[in-house]
Amino acid sequence: MSESSRVVVVGAGPAGVRAAAALVAAGLRPVVIDEASRSGGQIYRRQPAGFQRSAATLYGAEADKAVAVHSAFDALVGKIDYRPDTLVWNVYDGVLHTMCGQRAESVQFDSLIIAVGATDRLLPLDGWTLPGVYSLGASQIALKAQACSIGSRVVFVGTGPLLYLVAHQYVKAGAHVAAVLDTTPLSTRIKALPELVSRPGTLLKGMRYMMALRRAGVRLEAGVTPLRVEGKHAVRGVTVELADGKREQFTCDAVGLGYHLRSEVQLADLARCRFAFDNPTRQWLPEVDEDGRTSVRGVYVAGDGARTLGADAAEISGELAAHAALKDLGHTIPAARVADLQRAQRTQRRFAIGIAHAFPLPVRQLEKLPDHTLLCRCESITAGELRRAVKELGAPEVNRAKALTRVGMGRCQGRYCGLASAELVSATLGVPLEQAGRLRAQAPIKPLPIDAESTEDKV
Ligand SMILES: Cc1cc2nc3c(=O)[nH]c(=O)nc-3n(C[C@H](O)[C@H](O)[C@H](O)COP(=O)(O)OP(=O)(O)OC[C@H]3O[C@@H](n4cnc5c(N)ncnc54)[C@H](O)[C@@H]3O)c2cc1C
Repeated sequence: MSESSRVVVVGAGPAGVRAAAALVAAGLRPVVIDEASRSGGQIYRRQPAGFQRSAATLYGAEADKAVAVHSAFDALVGKIDYRPDTLVWNVYDGVLHTMCGQRAESVQFDSLIIAVGATDRLLPLDGWTLPGVYSLGASQIALKAQACSIGSRVVFVGTGPLLYLVAHQYVKAGAHVAAVLDTTPLSTRIKALPELVSRPGTLLKGMRYMMALRRAGVRLEAGVTPLRVEGKHAVRGVTVELADGKREQFTCDAVGLGYHLRSEVQLADLARCRFAFDNPTRQWLPEVDEDGRTSVRGVYVAGDGARTLGADAAEISGELAAHAALKDLGHTIPAARVADLQRAQRTQRRFAIGIAHAFPLPVRQLEKLPDHTLLCRCESITAGELRRAVKELGAPEVNRAKALTRVGMGRCQGRYCGLASAELVSATLGVPLEQAGRLRAQAPIKPLPIDAESTEDKV
């Protein structure tokens, strides 16, 4: 292995931390870049300086794991080239393009481990752009980072484990949660139970959250169809069709909305990794082998950025990706440890497929979306405009629809509307989602300051 091989890890969540630790243990000094100010990633997000909550208050049942990941990262200080507050906005030809404040830089790499996690998966709903509607992730960030509730009477709508977890965290923190409205019917969840028993502890934890919510007087409804968020200038309530077909309006001043997570795949796309369609999660994901190797030599993807398997799996896949990078650089790696990690990852994967079956995306909801509903918030594109682009202008897939309507062309670069747009193209054409394609990533993947200073040298 060359002494000067440079391994760069993007992301300091559980996957990035474990990748960096394995690289350091092998004698390397990796570069670790994260756009956040502190390590920990999403689930183990650290509170801002000056906040005094204990790990148990912040992370609940996950406190020990959070402390372990934080300690592992803190032990790396001085042994890694850590660059917090630094966004990676492009990858091209063995070079990362970064932005730290106003300062733009280029970072060369021999091996790149992309561990950038996931973000909320959203489905548009009439009224979802009103002030007071938050994604589930944002609702949790308000609580974890700032100890704030998104409202004084909150309703959570969507599906997936995060729906119940965030509602439970709100109740525990003393917030008033009026209802949790799940789009998945109870029967669908029960059918998936045999797949979920591969991780009985996690399954039990989910059930405990639901029981605690009931005990706290939170109304739990399954099999609902969300119709609209009510209000003119602010949220006044949310109207849904219940499983028995009756309509009901739930009064609230804030809505937390979310349907699982979507892997952050733009950097892998810009690095020209090959993608494959994943049926259970209805997403295109970078193709990786068991250790996180992509189709591009020297590029690895780990954690939720490869597939949303959760924090435990992120730690496993981060370490696996580091071993893969080390092996490909000519290092000897601990074969028995790698085999154990691979085995553990398979179990996590089985469970994740069970979760996808237990809480499927309610795509029928999109078929019924009124034409006037905003689909792309950044560019103010409605569902009707996208349907017209498909039906009248002949867009056969989502990239053509983007060119014709500007859907996904704004600040979020399709990170929030891209999957829903593809679903709507597929529903309008009556073709499988796979055929509606995926929005291709474009740099910069996130907004940059226009007055940035650029450094000529690659660092
Ligand atoms: C908002 C949110 C809340 C969640 N809450 C929970 C929870 O309570 N319980 C649970 O079990 N799971 C939760 N999850 C899922 C859980 O976070 C993941 O399973 C786990 O954190 C994945 O670890 P990771 O290392 O892959 O990614 P993450 O923990 O997401 O870490 C990714 C890191 O990459 C950085 N990054 C991303 N893009 C860039 C870029 N372009 N340039 C530089 N840095 C970048 C981010 O700042 C982040 O620190 C949540 C996910 C989200 C999105």
